[in-house]
Amino acid sequence: MPYRAEYIWIDGQQPTAKLRSKTKIVPSGAEPPVWGFDGSSTEQAPGNRSDCVLNPVFVRPDPIRGGDDVLVLCEVLTPDMEPHPSNTRAAAVAAYEKYRDQDPWFGLEQEYTFFKDGRPHGWPVGGYPAPQGGYYCGVGADEIWGRDVVEDHTAACIEAGLEISGTNAEVMIGQWEFQIGPLGPVEVGDHLWMARWLLYRIAEDYDISAHLNPKPVDGDWNGAGMHTNFSTTAMREAYEPVIAACEALGENPDEHIKVYGAGIERRLTGLHETAPWTEYSYGVSDRGASVRIPWQTAKEGKGYIEDRRPNANADPYTVAALITNTICGALDEK
Ligand code: ADP
Ligand code: MN
Ligand code: MN
Ligand code: MN
Repeated sequence: MPYRAEYIWIDGQQPTAKLRSKTKIVPSGAEPPVWGFDGSSTEQAPGNRSDCVLNPVFVRPDPIRGGDDVLVLCEVLTPDMEPHPSNTRAAAVAAYEKYRDQDPWFGLEQEYTFFKDGRPHGWPVGGYPAPQGGYYCGVGADEIWGRDVVEDHTAACIEAGLEISGTNAEVMIGQWEFQIGPLGPVEVGDHLWMARWLLYRIAEDYDISAHLNPKPVDGDWNGAGMHTNFSTTAMREAYEPVIAACEALGENPDEHIKVYGAGIERRLTGLHETAPWTEYSYGVSDRGASVRIPWQTAKEGKGYIEDRRPNANADPYTVAALITNTICGALDEK
């Protein structure tokens, strides 16, 4: 029997790309082949040269359709089989190839917000819920909205073989988080993009949409981030490289802020567990710093660091490529 392959790719929308997908019926026994799409409908090509190429890079069992069906994450190539300008995975591959001897690991905390009927899920019509404080890791129908979607999504990620490492309800009502990793700079992006697609797709069945907007509600409500936890072999063995990594991130903070997600200045205000985007800082256990050294890392004198700046809507390939180049480049000089 032929099987269904859901081809998933990242489009060319600016400033924040979006996921697209379409279904191919593949003959039994065959691998999902290279395919194509109309790039003029995804901001990836002009109408008179509209063809773009879908190159499968990461294939997993499809937990929604089941059976022999698969999810096929693709990179986008031009018709001459070169990485398309929107193909940010290529930079992650290059960074990994350059520094693979340092074995860089990433753990990404993907925060997101559910929307239903045009407002954050759980928000009353035309008003505000009780101020935040009790919702983080809460339980009970007065605090939690969308847990059924979260449970379905988590099970789907596990079934698809994605490295999901946990979930929690967040500080703002209707906001949640899942974590992916630790994995290398290319893999962490592959797993996160596929997990994002599964989240949107599963929420669709509940008439809910999941959004990565970094500041979904203005005012005294937490934004949504993609905290990026990072280590290398040297950092996992000693404290000096941990500090060197924090210092390296402070060398050129603007270069990082620029690719950490559109609208970052609305989220990194210095309030709501953030550091202002204009000032770089790091510290042990400090959730008001740009970069946090977890207490276990300080205590054990080895471990990992958390860059708290990336937005929920950041591109994990781009973030992982830049952090790998910045930190591994600095550690290489030591
Ligand atoms: P927080 O306390 O900031 O909410 P979480 O538990 O949500 O932290 O996420 C921590 C992330 O860090 C997880 O994805 C985990 O897999 C990842 N992680 C753990 N150890 C390492 C390491 N040595 N290098 C990189 N990432 C790591
Ligand atoms: Mn977390
Ligand atoms: Mn969080
Ligand atoms: Mn965190």
